[in-house]
Amino acid sequence: MIETSVGALYGVGPARVRAFAKLGVHTVEELLHHYPRAYEFRGDVKLLRDCGPEGKSAVILTVATAPRVHMIKRGMSLLKFRATEEGTGDVCEITYFNQNYLKDSFSPGCSYRFFGKIEKKGKGYAMSSPAFEEVIEGHEDELPPLLPVYPATEGLSQKQISAAVQLSLRMALTDADAMEDPLPAALRHERGLCAYSYALRNIHRPTDLEALAAAKKRLVYDELTLFALGLAATRSRTKAANAPACAQADLAPLEALLPYRLTGAQRRAIEEIRAEMSGNVPMSRMLVGDVGCGKTVCAAAAMLFAVQSGYQAALMAPTEILARQHYAELSELFGKLHISCALLIGATTAAKKRDVRAALADGSLDVVIGTQALLTEGVAFANPALMVTDEQHRFGVGQRAALSEKNRYAHLLVMSATPIPRSLALGLYGDLDISRIDEMPPGRQVVDTFVVDENYRARLNAFIEKQVAAGGQVYVVCPAIEERETIDADGMDADLYLDDISLRDEVAQTIHSEQPAIKSALAHAQYLSETLHGVRVECLHGKMKAAEKDAIMQSFVCGETQVLVSTTVIEVGVNVPNATLMIVENAERFGLSQLHQLRGRVGRGSRKSYCVLVGGERVGEVARQRLEVMRTQHDGFEIAQRDLLLRGPGDFLRGGAGDGIRQSGGIRFRLADTCDDAELLELAMQDARALIEHDPDLASAPALRRRMERMFTPAEGTLN
Ligand code: ADP
Ligand code: MG
Repeated sequence: MIETSVGALYGVGPARVRAFAKLGVHTVEELLHHYPRAYEFRGDVKLLRDCGPEGKSAVILTVATAPRVHMIKRGMSLLKFRATEEGTGDVCEITYFNQNYLKDSFSPGCSYRFFGKIEKKGKGYAMSSPAFEEVIEGHEDELPPLLPVYPATEGLSQKQISAAVQLSLRMALTDADAMEDPLPAALRHERGLCAYSYALRNIHRPTDLEALAAAKKRLVYDELTLFALGLAATRSRTKAANAPACAQADLAPLEALLPYRLTGAQRRAIEEIRAEMSGNVPMSRMLVGDVGCGKTVCAAAAMLFAVQSGYQAALMAPTEILARQHYAELSELFGKLHISCALLIGATTAAKKRDVRAALADGSLDVVIGTQALLTEGVAFANPALMVTDEQHRFGVGQRAALSEKNRYAHLLVMSATPIPRSLALGLYGDLDISRIDEMPPGRQVVDTFVVDENYRARLNAFIEKQVAAGGQVYVVCPAIEERETIDADGMDADLYLDDISLRDEVAQTIHSEQPAIKSALAHAQYLSETLHGVRVECLHGKMKAAEKDAIMQSFVCGETQVLVSTTVIEVGVNVPNATLMIVENAERFGLSQLHQLRGRVGRGSRKSYCVLVGGERVGEVARQRLEVMRTQHDGFEIAQRDLLLRGPGDFLRGGAGDGIRQSGGIRFRLADTCDDAELLELAMQDARALIEHDPDLASAPALRRRMERMFTPAEGTLN
């Protein structure tokens, strides 16, 4: 029953159904889990004369005059009435702006609790558009002290959301299944957690702060446990000693081929990897390090260790461009070490795919590099020892799970430039060990960053010509492919802010206030090739055929093309050391981590490099702050922290666009985001693991199993 649409609730018509959908709420169950983002404390009722001018206060007043509507201008009106305070006799004038429909909500002689800012006015007081609830004579104590503030959207007021939630709670209470406590009672008692129905009621309408804290703790625990269970169940990686031990590990031959010396941090990471791979307990390790710190060579070392011991290794990248680039670099290196290496991506011809699959299956191929194509059926290894994923954060949970599931007994190395705060890392990656590269190769320079607007266009073009004349190359990134707003949704490559609920309002605002026109890659490439002199400009985007992309990337890599205009397809991993200038058009549309990744494409060689962020003057406040962070900050960790502050952690957990988990009612943590209770996190993880170990099918906790299954339905079409 709770899986029915919110449209079944009294008072929720088609328009509100659509508004709820914008909040990710479709069913009654999802509404139950649409938790308040904050609470207003209205329980502290004061006298008008005791309320200070700052902040909001609660007062109980009796309506003294019938509300009247005053038209002030066309389309604008004020609803006004006077209310008096019992006991003191103080008078307060109350006004609502453009809310005539409230006229019938107030009857003279009735009392209400008003909550809002209180100002002095003449001998009395005034409140403008206060929140209110009717007070039933003699039942003052029953007024809820804490009122929920929900994430809202246009077309849905707090009151409407709140009313719908209350109805759905009532509906759920009559539905035994819905309120069945998903946690086994023993566990609940052991962890001192309140009952499920109590938690749901109190998260929405807490009776007091204590009840709220208990409710929150319980629901955070649920979220984390469900998440951990889902991971454990889909991954079922055991710590049993059944992985291939790669004991024949010798880094020297690889080192001898490198044109540089490994940094101390790289050496340490490689040693941690070597030590763990040489044993037969499967490694689950995450290698984190800022963009450009040199993670690829560490992966190469790990793959070398696998092959030296007679096994196979695989490297999976989130985009074809990156897979091709890794293949180009590593196959050259591996060739010199007599290690066979093949590329397997969607665009690989059928015949070639067949060959690669056969060679993997009979063990004659040592290393395969590819995209999610590696996860497709029919790809099987004769003796796999190591699975590596690059730019881990670009993959969905489902894909992460699929890769390790596919090779349950192999060592697992995941690489990421996104430094995830520790409490979140635990939640996301559960039992991964972490190796950090906290040092850049020597000689790297800070990429000078500028934020400019259209007025700067001519000078920017001159700057491009200057860079090219000096032998450098230039990336220009645009948010869309074509004129009419086709935002590049090349698989995982698009991660535009328009999808972000928290910023949608801001974007909507910006659109209304003459938002800077979106630069399309095709049109801008055309413009640049006509405007710039003696410069070869090419355009690259996600809708191109693979061979075409490849040819264009190749001509940029070898320096034939000097200016590459593209969509974010080049965001991750791509490495062209000769590139000295990164221009991001409509930079206001990109997220911080994305901008950091893009900027990381330059400054990879020894040449002085620059990043120019073109954002109109009329960008919203949050976007402006993002650009300012980019201009002043260069450290990936620092930027990630700011990102977290500006956009909230939900996005980290969603793993960007294209997460393999259903979004609606899905994995996006609702409460755990805001929970920095690391201890609770660890407990939830522990309990989940213990549960799965003793009862892999969760036969003893059917309600938990049901909720988990609903949560972990992978989105369609994300696995290839
Ligand atoms: P990321 O960690 O972002 O994946 P890459 O592995 O692509 O970084 O390395 C970035 C660049 O740095 C590459 O051109 C690589 O050859 C170079 N590089 C890696 N390690 C070193 C080092 N120790 N000294 C100098 N250059 C290095
Ligand atoms: Mg990389």
